[in-house]
Amino acid sequence: MTYQNYSLKQLQQIDAAHHLHPFTDHKELRSAGSRMIVRADGPFIYDSEGNEILDGMAGLWCVNVGYGREELAEAAYRQMKELPYYNAFFRCSTPTPILLAKKIAELAPKGVNQVFFGSSGSESNDTALRIVRHYWALEGKPEKNRIISRKSAYHGSTIAGTSLGGMDLMHGQLGGAVPNIVHVMMPYSFELSLPGESDHEFGLRAAKAVEDAILEAGADKVAAFIGEPVMGAGGVKIPPASYWPEVQRICRKYDVLLMLDEVITGYGRTGNWFAAETYGIEPDTITTAKALTSGYLPLSALLVGDRIAHTLEEKGGEFHHGYTYSGHPVACAVGLANLEIIEKEGLVERVRDDTGPYFAKMLKERVAGHPLVGEVRSVGLMGAIEIVKDRATRERYLPAGSAAVMVRDHAVNSGLMMRATGDTMILSPPIMWTRDTVDLAGERIVKALDMALADLRKRD
Ligand code: PMP
Repeated sequence: MTYQNYSLKQLQQIDAAHHLHPFTDHKELRSAGSRMIVRADGPFIYDSEGNEILDGMAGLWCVNVGYGREELAEAAYRQMKELPYYNAFFRCSTPTPILLAKKIAELAPKGVNQVFFGSSGSESNDTALRIVRHYWALEGKPEKNRIISRKSAYHGSTIAGTSLGGMDLMHGQLGGAVPNIVHVMMPYSFELSLPGESDHEFGLRAAKAVEDAILEAGADKVAAFIGEPVMGAGGVKIPPASYWPEVQRICRKYDVLLMLDEVITGYGRTGNWFAAETYGIEPDTITTAKALTSGYLPLSALLVGDRIAHTLEEKGGEFHHGYTYSGHPVACAVGLANLEIIEKEGLVERVRDDTGPYFAKMLKERVAGHPLVGEVRSVGLMGAIEIVKDRATRERYLPAGSAAVMVRDHAVNSGLMMRATGDTMILSPPIMWTRDTVDLAGERIVKALDMALADLRKRD
């Protein structure tokens, strides 16, 4: 029986009775009902009421080539018929993960040539944490195991992912974090820069927090620094240009490994295959997932730099770690077909040279001057809009986050899927967007802001 045999109401009732959702207040879900997305095509998703919604979030930062790609469905179908599954344990292999690993290594920054597959960004960050600590143990420094991360970072929802991340609400429900992970300030100038401090100075100060944490522990106790090149779920926080070069200099000075979490930024979002290139970072590990298959199937890839890979191979023996679906043949076939689409259509270059700058211009010219907007920022096709009550003082509406939720609800009702994180609106559209799609998004953003402003004037 297909879902078409059920009414929306029936589906919502079954959803409430049996389906536990991620990041959801189930009591609220039960009273309000869920929005049912039933199909999608190109840049649009459609709900059960037939509403067409422009997907400004690419699902959850992942559907980079857009919806309805026959090539991806066919790649999965062909692989499923030929070999739906075999594992990569115990010296076995299958062809598609081999070819995908080679392809990723070709696209990756220099000095990064090995790939470990999983099914999610969280899993891959678990793997990264284990590999980095294992590396130092193999190098005879087991006590060099502290990880430095940032407040408001998002690195996933497993125990290790949550521990690496810097989300207070998640830590509050963790019941015991992975030990020896500390969180320093984030490079978020809109809220954290001091009066009179330039962006450049702020970036250096935020990087200095990493050095302070290293000095506090002692460099011989610090394994690695982990960071998203651009913090995503935490509110598309784009660091000043001075930040990453300084973080990299500090990591090198104290021989601290650099772990990049490119689960959002990997495979084109910032206008390069990896944001490592956008920011001139030479990482030791890169966590990727999401856009690797454009979300058509779950797949993650941890990219491991030569330094770690060499030690693991030469001194490590068997690495006692792996997932049933590490190197899943069907997911990897879809990954290969997806990267081929991105290459063939020149989507990375398009973001860098055309749609990225056009998106920035749209935000600046159409959105930045709105009375509700304190700042717009973007890199490639990833952007944020800060919602404020007072543009001059950056005062927010109270209760915190309430104004952004209004903007979001009006946006969705006006046909644009956009997310609210605290008082920040975030956008991360498919990288197949064209100038026309950017224009359509611009229209709907302004409409949502106007409607929210009218509501807020009535409310306050
Ligand atoms: N790292 C980052 C930067 C992410 O944005 C996410 C997911 N939003 C993850 C890790 C976790 O990925 P997953 O949900 O696939 O486990």
